[in-house]
Amino acid sequence: MKKDAEELTGLVFDIKEFALFDGPGLRCTVFLKGCPLRCSWCHNPEGIKPTPEYMKSASGKRLAGRYYSVSELAGKLFSYEGILKDAGGVSFSGGEPLFQADFLIETMRRLKGRLHILLQTSGCAEAQDFAAVTDLADTVYFDLKVMNPALHRRFTGVDNAGILDNLKRLDRSGPVYRLRVPMIPGVTDTIENYDDIRSFIKNNLNTGGYLDGLDLLPYNPAAGGKYEAVGRKFEPEFDEQAKTRVNPDFFLSVVKEAKSL
Ligand code: SF4
Repeated sequence: MKKDAEELTGLVFDIKEFALFDGPGLRCTVFLKGCPLRCSWCHNPEGIKPTPEYMKSASGKRLAGRYYSVSELAGKLFSYEGILKDAGGVSFSGGEPLFQADFLIETMRRLKGRLHILLQTSGCAEAQDFAAVTDLADTVYFDLKVMNPALHRRFTGVDNAGILDNLKRLDRSGPVYRLRVPMIPGVTDTIENYDDIRSFIKNNLNTGGYLDGLDLLPYNPAAGGKYEAVGRKFEPEFDEQAKTRVNPDFFLSVVKEAKSL
């Protein structure tokens, strides 16, 4: 049985109060804990487990994960309304924010129309939750990783069929979205993956014109740093030292091509 909005709590592992790179303008970014994926390159390992956990370092330990009620989180975000309203808005990130879909939906309902809402998502969610959340968002940043299904399972631990279905739905129904490709050496930056991304966009997207662009996200070489703090080993299945194959012209042409369909 679904809980009432007032009974819902959400687990948050960080709130960045004035972030500059999580969407247009100045953002307050809420990082929700829990993720169904296990990306080999994940740089937020404390965002994966859906329970609070201690992060230990030389300077001591801190608890990653605090429960908020919908009212408490919305109230905190509204306390920045004067600054964020015209300058930017709120971004939900993770982990995978949709892992706590009910809490996210209720929180977004409170914010809707007062603050610009951006969702950063892997797209890995039940279709009905994905539709409900994206209908409330003003902008979506959607991660596109590995297109080959077997490689997607190998490097993220999950199948990508549902993810791509959610992307097609987003493309039909909006809101405006950007695709984001993390540049992981030998995994996402291969010629095959570029070609697969290009074909997928060409054959499946832009029916509603909501696609706003495609961003390449550089690999974060500090990704492994936090694993020890949460008691895990960073064991990427790719060569971290390899140079990523970045081809911005290729991606520009992909988006141009999609726009002209
Ligand atoms: S989707 Fe994001 S948070 Fe989840 S495992 Fe992958 S990189 Fe980490």
